[in-house]
Amino acid sequence: MQYKYPNLSDEQLKPLLTEIHHWGLTNGLVMYPQTGNPENTTAVAPITVYPTIIPEKCFDQAIGVQTVYNELYAKIVQDYDWLHAETEKLSKHDSEFTGKLWDVYLKAKKLGIPQKLELGIFRNDFLIDSVKNEIKQVEFNTVSVSFGGLSTKVSQLHRYLKLHGFYSDDLLISNVPVSDSAEKLSDGLFAGVHAYEEQQYGSFDATTIVAFIVQDGERNVFDQRILEYNLASNHGIKAVRLTIQDVPKLLKKCEKTSKLFYTPTNDEISVVYFRSGYAPNDFKSEQDWESRLLLETSLSIKAPSLKVQLSGTKKIQQLLTDENILRKFISDDDKISELQSTFVQIYPLDDSPLGVKAKEIIKTGNTDNYVLKPQREGGGNNIYKSDINPFLADKDEKDWSAYILMEMINAEPTEGNVILRNNELYREKILSEFGVFGVILFDENQIHHNEYSGWLLRSKFSSSNEGGVAAGFGCVDSVAVMPKSSVV
Ligand code: ADP
Ligand code: MG
Repeated sequence: MQYKYPNLSDEQLKPLLTEIHHWGLTNGLVMYPQTGNPENTTAVAPITVYPTIIPEKCFDQAIGVQTVYNELYAKIVQDYDWLHAETEKLSKHDSEFTGKLWDVYLKAKKLGIPQKLELGIFRNDFLIDSVKNEIKQVEFNTVSVSFGGLSTKVSQLHRYLKLHGFYSDDLLISNVPVSDSAEKLSDGLFAGVHAYEEQQYGSFDATTIVAFIVQDGERNVFDQRILEYNLASNHGIKAVRLTIQDVPKLLKKCEKTSKLFYTPTNDEISVVYFRSGYAPNDFKSEQDWESRLLLETSLSIKAPSLKVQLSGTKKIQQLLTDENILRKFISDDDKISELQSTFVQIYPLDDSPLGVKAKEIIKTGNTDNYVLKPQREGGGNNIYKSDINPFLADKDEKDWSAYILMEMINAEPTEGNVILRNNELYREKILSEFGVFGVILFDENQIHHNEYSGWLLRSKFSSSNEGGVAAGFGCVDSVAVMPKSSVV
């Protein structure tokens, strides 16, 4: 997409940067730095100086399909037999993590899972195919989705700068919207609290709390805190923060009722919200897996439960590109075509006809248009293009099934925006990934609440393949929605 950003020198940008620093520090657009003592050094989070142009059609399409995706994943979880069979197979090939989660789930099922309500807090990530001018799905995240808090802040900052004349006239022709993810995600947690109290006590009295299960040494604390403070100020609900390692010290499950309590204050926990637990190293010992089991078998609503988390594997995403499988969950033709319009080709690496075709692609080394993905979350795990063949050559072919082979989405880099991180400016070309949040509350039979919950734009140097913001590759951006007629 051709668009001219103001071309200002570092010197000319200084007044704008002062505005950004003051606004960011005043409003909590912050992250702990990679180095230094986190307690006394925070800085403006890695962000872009300007919003990045997204065509209106793509923006609307991504947002429009969110509740259909929420419904799809709820139906997958409701149709337990299929998820069970697929996850069981996968857990054999990825015993290190999927297998561990699956074992805990099976143990929990044996012991009894007393809570039937499921709270899905999702983020659907897209890149824009620049040839077709269409959104294409990168992945669907069902656990620990981040940046809903900071996305609201960055978009507020960019909108403020635009409305108060800090950008050039060029940017004035676009619409710079604010993402309401920070409010909507806390509304989603609140929906869980409300449903729990209604279920247990027949009325809502704001007497229970939310437990955020976080990582030790988390740098992206403020993104989480924004949700916590919105929960307090908009809904009067208290939250506590603890790591999975803290569970034995700080939480207690009542033997008789399975209710979960935060022992320092004896508060009852209605919702356990995971901002961790998506990567193997979140679990440091067997005790941590025991703690995950304790949470799963408690009466609290889990956001997400293990079933919902396991519905978000890349293997399940690949299987859904088979129309026969997709139709098991969604029957409406319009919804099917809406979903399918966001898919690119994804191959399994098993003995199915499609798997055989994919293995052929790999063996001939024609992998320049592909990315290989293991069953992991959190960035930094994928293998790209010409690295795929040598990477797999080292492995036994029967273990290839733990991976999926995905067509690369041809997103066009944007030139002219400026990245600000650690007080340094970077003027490289960027690639942007658009995320859409969604919240769904459901049980085995029914969907109780299904909402679109705001959006996020993350950008990274187009020279780097990966885009994790907290991992240090990318930054939080916002959107300038450009009507088709005004693109030059
Ligand atoms: P993770 O769970 O680690 O976030 P992703 O599937 O989101 O895994 O992949 C990480 C990054 O790799 C994405 O943010 C994107 O930048 C890049 N990527 C993944 N799939 C594709 C694809 N099909 N085409 C282009 N880039 C991709
Ligand atoms: Mg991702």
